[in-house]
Amino acid sequence: PYKGPLADEVFEKRKKYLGPSIFHYYQKPLNIVEGKMQYLFDENGRRYLDAFAGIVTVSCGHCHPDILSAIEEQNKLLQHATTIYLHHAIGDFAEGLAAKMPGNLKVVYFVNSGTEANELAMLMARLYSGNLGMIALRNAYHGGSAGTIGLTALNTWKYPIPQASPTVEPIRFGEIHHVVNPNPYRGVFGSDASRYAQDVQDHIDHGTSGQVAGFISETIQGVGGAVELAPGYLKPVYEMVRKAGGVCIADEVQTGFGRTGSHYWGFQTQDVIPDIVTMAKGIGNGLPIGAVVTTPEIAQVMAQKIQFNTFGGNPVCSAGGLAVLRVLDKENRQKHCSDVGSHLIGRLKDLQQKFDLIGDVRGRGLMVGIELVTDRKEKTPAKAETAVLFEKLRELGVLVGKGGLHGNVFRIKPPMCFDKDDADFLVDALDYSMSKL
Ligand code: PMP
Repeated sequence: PYKGPLADEVFEKRKKYLGPSIFHYYQKPLNIVEGKMQYLFDENGRRYLDAFAGIVTVSCGHCHPDILSAIEEQNKLLQHATTIYLHHAIGDFAEGLAAKMPGNLKVVYFVNSGTEANELAMLMARLYSGNLGMIALRNAYHGGSAGTIGLTALNTWKYPIPQASPTVEPIRFGEIHHVVNPNPYRGVFGSDASRYAQDVQDHIDHGTSGQVAGFISETIQGVGGAVELAPGYLKPVYEMVRKAGGVCIADEVQTGFGRTGSHYWGFQTQDVIPDIVTMAKGIGNGLPIGAVVTTPEIAQVMAQKIQFNTFGGNPVCSAGGLAVLRVLDKENRQKHCSDVGSHLIGRLKDLQQKFDLIGDVRGRGLMVGIELVTDRKEKTPAKAETAVLFEKLRELGVLVGKGGLHGNVFRIKPPMCFDKDDADFLVDALDYSMSKL
């Protein structure tokens, strides 16, 4: 049994020593002390089904034994030396990752987070294109650093510092244009990808010098509430951006590594090959790893200076990251995500027939969103109801994520070992909670 400090004490210390901007889930925050595969345990030994995976990060499962042993083996030998010396782990990991990429995406950079990966991608796009302007989607999340905060387009995360300006007169430190979000449920053009794509061309023509550095998007928006892009959107947009001198960046921080079920990478669901791919979260199953993969041609522009990252690709993270890739293959997780995801989405769509509160069920594989509305026609966000159900699910032992600007979307993105019984338990718990509402 757990013998450490209890929730009240932990919470008090956190309030005293950590910044006031930190947020927590649940009225009475959970003190999570242990994790095993798709389950988490609190201080009392109570088990919870984890349907959010530490914000889509624990890909293989909490404390997966193969990954633990890879980390432990490396820990005993060497934890850190940096790339100023040779060590095989970084190359092995890069080789494993490159083998998963289509096209000419063969050069790998390791960093420590998704934010860092997107910073580096933006830098590459600007250097390679010789332009500064970036295009991102509304409702996107790409990070919280001074640079990536400009790409992020949810007001809850945006501090008021200089970052973006969709003006005709480009601000030369690098303007950012947020185009209309191709959201099939809420978007102004429904599922009509071509009209959303036209808005990108409109921005290029009217809001820039005609040249841009690049375009970045998630392939299913995560923080924004599991929003899939209208089918067929990325193909014409990638063409427009390339014609305007820019490069195309896919943010696979949440969607990568087979989570969407049908494909290993989210961008493949839109039948495109990006010029730069960024990843983090699930790549490390909980280890702090971020990566950028690009083409040799784009990588060449980085060679004009030294590009260095103290911890990027360190032996421990590289050994763990390689083990993640191997576990996902060995356990056939992409197919599993497809099977369990179809089952889960099917059951949620049935539940939607029963409860008007469920406005939309969407997603792919184990990247699922349930949007709650008080009025299906007006799509009024059911903020209060979502909050009540969120607590109720926790009481029943199910932890889900919340998302969307109004916090009215449940995000179901569990460790990929989550199985059909878990999916049934989650849907039954939701069914019960909604019937009591
Ligand atoms: N991109 C996406 C799509 C994300 O969801 C996140 C984190 N929520 C990031 C980038 C930033 O990653 P990190 O928190 O590791 O910096």
